[in-house]
Amino acid sequence: MTSAIDQDAAAAVSAAVDALSGRRIAILTGAGVSTDSGIPDYRGNGAPTRTPMTVEQYLSSEDHRRRYWVGSHLGWKAFAAAAPNPGHLAIARLEERGLATGVVTQNVDGLHVRAGSRRVVELHGTMRRIFCTQCGQVFDRRDMAVRVEADNPWITVPENVPLGPDGDVLPENTTGFLVPSCSVCEGMLKPDVVFFGEFIPAEKFREAEQLVRGSDALIIAGSSLVVNSGIRLLDRARRRRLPIVIVNRGATRGDSRATVKIEAGTSEVFAMLAESLPAL
Ligand SMILES: [Zn+2]
Repeated sequence: MTSAIDQDAAAAVSAAVDALSGRRIAILTGAGVSTDSGIPDYRGNGAPTRTPMTVEQYLSSEDHRRRYWVGSHLGWKAFAAAAPNPGHLAIARLEERGLATGVVTQNVDGLHVRAGSRRVVELHGTMRRIFCTQCGQVFDRRDMAVRVEADNPWITVPENVPLGPDGDVLPENTTGFLVPSCSVCEGMLKPDVVFFGEFIPAEKFREAEQLVRGSDALIIAGSSLVVNSGIRLLDRARRRRLPIVIVNRGATRGDSRATVKIEAGTSEVFAMLAESLPAL
């Protein structure tokens, strides 16, 4: 696997090992860590442009909700079939060895949790949970999927339809689809994910800040840092003069502020770091 990275990247990895050694590391991840699991990064090179549904559209229109639920259900099935990759597994190993304090992720795919990471702050929420907007009852996505299939037995994953990073695939036809409602109060359900146009809950961001505050270094991986929360966490670390390592193929908004920038795939780099970083 180490053969997959070039000489410059290998030199950057050893510089990162020097900068990170003896420190407890917070890790911030974006869509780039999940691409090796077959989940595309819609901000990466050559990604198709997409217009995500806004929370206003979802909350105000039954038609939008129907479209959302068909796509979200099909996307969930594809996500559930995806497996954690060597990057997710190496991150979990770093935490197990006491070198990583935890992971803050912008991804909603749940792959860090499935890889065995224990302290995971899911900034944008998770597809695993659904909640009722009226009574607050929380539902497990797997149970909801069973209900959706029972109500809509004709629903299938269309062939060659691109899987979106939020687990939404473009539905071909949504006519007749029965949108699930709360089994307690019949209220409107909403997946526990931050929609386009929605803010990250303040307590979620505080949790991420706390994780960075309790660490002596920060790795940012697989994110171009287009999302502001990532830049804000980077600045928190920078103010405390912590070493900051950025792992990403392509430029990011944080490159000029990084101690070390590694231009390589996150799976390869985390596998190397998990192998090379000495015990504390
Ligand atoms: Zn309810």
